[in-house]
Amino acid sequence: MCPTYERGEELDMAFDICVVGAGMVGSAAAKWLAMDGTKKVCLIGPQEPTEEEDRKGERQIFGCHYDEGRITREIDPDYVWGLLAKRSIQRYRDIENESGIHFYNEVGCVFINKTDSQEFDDYLDTARKLEAYIETYDASEFHTKYPYLKINPDCRCIWAPQNTGHISPRKLVAAQQKIARSHGCDIINEVVVDMEESEDGGKNLVRISTESGREVLTRRALLCTGCFSNFHHLLPDEKKLDLLLRRAVVVKAEVTKEDAVKIADMPTFWLGHERAYILPPILYPDGKYYIKIGLSHFSSDILQGLDKAVQWFYSKGKEHPGVKDTIDSLQRFMPDLKPVSLITDSCITTSTPTKQLYCDMLTARTGVVVGMNGWGAKSSDEIGRMGASMIGKGSWDHDLPADNFKVLFKDNKKDTI
Ligand SMILES: Cc1cc2nc3c(=O)[nH]c(=O)nc-3n(C[C@H](O)[C@H](O)[C@H](O)COP(=O)(O)OP(=O)(O)OC[C@H]3O[C@@H](n4cnc5c(N)ncnc54)[C@H](O)[C@@H]3O)c2cc1C
Repeated sequence: MCPTYERGEELDMAFDICVVGAGMVGSAAAKWLAMDGTKKVCLIGPQEPTEEEDRKGERQIFGCHYDEGRITREIDPDYVWGLLAKRSIQRYRDIENESGIHFYNEVGCVFINKTDSQEFDDYLDTARKLEAYIETYDASEFHTKYPYLKINPDCRCIWAPQNTGHISPRKLVAAQQKIARSHGCDIINEVVVDMEESEDGGKNLVRISTESGREVLTRRALLCTGCFSNFHHLLPDEKKLDLLLRRAVVVKAEVTKEDAVKIADMPTFWLGHERAYILPPILYPDGKYYIKIGLSHFSSDILQGLDKAVQWFYSKGKEHPGVKDTIDSLQRFMPDLKPVSLITDSCITTSTPTKQLYCDMLTARTGVVVGMNGWGAKSSDEIGRMGASMIGKGSWDHDLPADNFKVLFKDNKKDTI
């Protein structure tokens, strides 16, 4: 088994492939590369900040995986996103078995929207294409099934009981890294501050510099750096990616253990007419159960610059004007819920103009897999596999068409080489 390197330790050998960003996609990509067994692989990225690091407030880089609940479902208004999810979900139990880390709860997922909504029809269409098992209900039928939930009478429901539910992003990342390490991947818990392609002793290499001053040499590098991809000097100015960062705020309603047990049959929900997602009670590391709710994109919520992104993570979303709307939405949906407390948390989603993720080579030696448009957690295993195949070969190597995932650049949206 390979060691995890701590800050300051020397590492002067060259790798075949370095994955930068030890989050959901990067950890999956590193696992796939390590499992291939033909290349010397490393994964570089900081772990989740400890409570003490949080208090100090010096962290400049965050990930979107510091949580216990992400909705997982194969059906989606978009077929490609649905397929990426389906393939990932099919492998969850294998990842659990190989790592010994449990992260998936198959509690089902329900999509609710107005009877005449296009989104509802798009969900049905993808379900048919992916051969996903579903049942449809009108509002009153569904209310009979879950009497503690209030559904608008002019809404319809799609109930997907299989291959859906929620995952712990924190535990999935831990599982992927554990498997990667067991297949020989080195993991370096550091922030990368600079990347440069260079000629080194006649060899074409990428030189990766970390915050502590360590230099790592690699033949190819794959950036899986989420919402922080355009910061530091990971990419040259002319190759900054066309990404929109949006503040995301969630409310976590603490419920007693007794209440959590009473509604233990609660699935995950997408309330299309409210643009809200809701997860059932989940046990968090503080020993409490929380129901989590978030509203998707407040349109004015675009963030610019590293400082604003860092401030937003540290703010925990407490002052965000959308918090009240979020709580109101939960109360409309679960009118009898009596939360013990309400807390907020903050995160950032990374959108692309194409609404698809970017998975592309920027040069012959550097590739990127970023821009998950707020829904990458559930599909991260297949997305990581896609990135791993591409960087392993140095060019596109997946059954889905490369054009779907092509990068656009910030300045002029020109295609890659
Ligand atoms: C509030 C909220 C709710 C969500 N709900 C869902 C959901 O229900 N279902 C779902 O499927 N998805 C959901 N998502 C989206 C999902 O969490 C993200 O799409 C997913 O985490 C993205 O994975 P990633 O690997 O691209 O980025 P991340 O998971 O953020 O990982 C990026 C990693 O890169 C590292 N990094 C960045 N810069 C550097 C650097 N310079 N050097 C080294 N490392 C670096 C970071 O530390 C981080 O670990 C949600 C997102 C938010 C914000």
